[in-house]
Amino acid sequence: MYHLVVTACLVTAPTVCADRLLPTPEPLAETDCTNGASARIAAWADLHPDLVIGSWTCRPTGNLPALDLAEIAPGVLAHAGQAQPLSAANGGDIANLGVVIGDTVAVIDPGGSRAIGERLYAAIRQITDQPISHVILTHMHPDHIFGAEVFSEAGATIIAHHNLPSALDRRAGTWAESIPRQTGALAMLGTRAIPPDITLAARQEITLGGATLRLDPVATAHTDNDLTVLHLESGTLFTGDLVFAGLTPSLDGSLTGWLAWLSQPPDPPPQRIVPGHGPVSLPWDQGTAPLRAYLAALADQTRAAIIAGEAMSEAATHVGTDQRGDWQGFDEINARNAIAAFKELEWE
Ligand SMILES: [Zn+2]
Repeated sequence: MYHLVVTACLVTAPTVCADRLLPTPEPLAETDCTNGASARIAAWADLHPDLVIGSWTCRPTGNLPALDLAEIAPGVLAHAGQAQPLSAANGGDIANLGVVIGDTVAVIDPGGSRAIGERLYAAIRQITDQPISHVILTHMHPDHIFGAEVFSEAGATIIAHHNLPSALDRRAGTWAESIPRQTGALAMLGTRAIPPDITLAARQEITLGGATLRLDPVATAHTDNDLTVLHLESGTLFTGDLVFAGLTPSLDGSLTGWLAWLSQPPDPPPQRIVPGHGPVSLPWDQGTAPLRAYLAALADQTRAAIIAGEAMSEAATHVGTDQRGDWQGFDEINARNAIAAFKELEWE
């Protein structure tokens, strides 16, 4: 199987260039890849006017750079992102990504950039030529979803919580500037946020043939558009950022809603969870305990500060700080969480 790879440079910074992979829904032989290249490049360039496309090649699957995927249950694979804040060193590869293989393939979170999505696509293609039928977005945050366009081009249907499109619209402008500032422009070259094809307001099951995924949109918790994915055959629950391990949890929805979600263990009890960040396979109790302790402390200390008559700016200097422990990126994220918690709880 062969893949079209183009060299693309930023219009605004012509020395910032990277290889971009243009996938297809069907596997291509080398001659098909070569013969169709010009038309495909022209169509892709129309959608990426911020890029200048240079040379191209058709490369075999084995020659593509690929993410590491670990099998955590039969037919269930995961990529471990680095459990750190975004940086130039990690290039946005900080979220855990999932792959479920049945007769077709589903991706749970396509990664934080076009480049990461391409490397995930390559990793899947190094395992199977089966069609990639679905991409499920666990929530709106860029480190989880900015690779979606790669899989849309590969023919997948993109599925998300019904609140995701409006939430993404509200943030898109901010993120277009802030993410490249953190990761570097090269890491985000060619990245374009795309809306989902289908949104869900209630549970839905997807059958891939030999694998069944149960998708559950969740009430506002980490964000207002969290969605969990349960692989029924193995009992593997992809929680997205409803569970953090290692990287400091970021509150972008509702603290009380998040604690409420954590207080009701999933039914049926999962065999393992794949959190949004941290180790890719954890038991429910062990995987959620540090998060639960942190969020409970955040709520308790915020309520105490409000009762003591503190201003928000004062509370933000100390609320949660005794929870630092081994959390990565703690000081900056916790300070933002303290403000979000204060705004939410001051009206209780
Ligand atoms: Zn998130």
